[in-house]
Amino acid sequence: LPRLYFRRRPEEVEGLRSQFISSSCSVSYRNTGPLHISHGYKARLVDINGIEYLDTRNNVAHCGHGHPEIVRAITYQVGQLQTNTRYLHPHASLLAKKLSDLLPRSLERVFFVNSGSEANDLALRLARAYKMQQKGATHDARKDHTIVIDHGYHGHTLSTLDASAYKHRQGKEIDKCPAHLRIVPCPDVYRGVHSIKKSLPRKYDASLHKDKEQYCESEIEAANKYASYVEIECEKYPVSAFLIEGGMSVAGVILPPKSYLRRCIDAVHKAGGLYIADEVQTGFGRLGKCMWAFQYSNENEGGVDEIIPDIVTVGKPFGNGQPLAAVITTPCIASAFESLGVEYFNTFAASPVQCAAGLAMLHVLSSEHLQKNADDVGNYLVELFSELQSRCEWIGDIRGSGLFIGVELVRDQHTLEPATEETSFVCSILKDKYKVLTSVDGAHENVMVIKPPLVFSRADAALFVSCFEKALLVDLPMVKDRLKYFGRTPT
Ligand code: PMP
Repeated sequence: LPRLYFRRRPEEVEGLRSQFISSSCSVSYRNTGPLHISHGYKARLVDINGIEYLDTRNNVAHCGHGHPEIVRAITYQVGQLQTNTRYLHPHASLLAKKLSDLLPRSLERVFFVNSGSEANDLALRLARAYKMQQKGATHDARKDHTIVIDHGYHGHTLSTLDASAYKHRQGKEIDKCPAHLRIVPCPDVYRGVHSIKKSLPRKYDASLHKDKEQYCESEIEAANKYASYVEIECEKYPVSAFLIEGGMSVAGVILPPKSYLRRCIDAVHKAGGLYIADEVQTGFGRLGKCMWAFQYSNENEGGVDEIIPDIVTVGKPFGNGQPLAAVITTPCIASAFESLGVEYFNTFAASPVQCAAGLAMLHVLSSEHLQKNADDVGNYLVELFSELQSRCEWIGDIRGSGLFIGVELVRDQHTLEPATEETSFVCSILKDKYKVLTSVDGAHENVMVIKPPLVFSRADAALFVSCFEKALLVDLPMVKDRLKYFGRTPT
């Protein structure tokens, strides 16, 4: 492109954007000064004025922004060939094998797609095909139910939007959940319907809990209570799929209590349905101690209790920024789909360029020991946050694993009133004053989510927590009363 394309005044870019790109496509920090990013490296983004930002939110640039080895692999391949999978090319076959090798043995059939939404959409199709095969030709698959978790997000296509309870409350497009989608409570043991006593702050007044019956003494009790919603659905309805993230991101970094998944999967299998593990955000070692979030509570890998999904979907980090995603399943489920006789063709999916990015990403992930780094830096972050929590009333809960951490901010440790406006303010000030990019999630938008590229270092972690501390203990008190008066400060 002529250099002229890049030399545009920010106001002109903003003007063109708002005139020609739909306002439904959101812009971060829209009201407080949107960012004009020119390039990035490791866990840093640099704007057009040369200002560097620490990136604690980009879970796509898994091995870091602009990783030289991945850039080299992509640029070489762009110059060689860019076609679809109807021609044979070693990259696609090799990448499918490498992906399958990272998963439990039974998962050995791969479908490549371009995005997490496409992956989940196809996974739901596979589950439907499998159910049809089990039930015979007269079975009406449209009546089969899919169980999803409250406040989950699985994509932007029609089928995945339906399955995204988080979106049902947003705007007017979907105001009712379609009948075949069954939403069960999110297994949140901090502020969910069944919270665990020990995960709540000592100051928490249990008598304030809506229903003491729902209050749990142990993790196992919470797991049983939350799983019972899935069990009831499976008894009442013809279930074809249970779609869940092993670590729920948009819901505010929720890792389900131990044995929750095991109980749910057993119930779903008994009903003839399939367990789909959405690993779009959490896959490829982000949780540090495990490669996949569905393995998080496995105590006995290879044992009878090992969690093994029927279908796994991956996306975001797979191509380190290139549109590369996949669905991985068992030969038996794949053959149910194949027996329908419909060709699966996806124009851009698994082009040699995308696959080169995927192969390079997997190589860097392993050669730079990034899963181990996620574990190490994640533990360090939790240590730093815990120390800060002892001096700061705002921090209600710290949870997560590896570089998938949520810090929930509350106004009151007794009532757990969510500090929604304050969280939004902290996010803005971190960007404006401290040059740190963060993200906020959770049903009450009061959870700071830390999910940086896995090259995030201990020094990055220390820098982030010291900026976070200043934002909470110096900047927030100065505007606290005004915030309550004006309401939410949009980021
Ligand atoms: N699943 C999960 C858990 C996600 O977080 C997302 C995107 N945030 C998707 C699916 C959809 O992925 P994509 O945006 O690549 O379509």
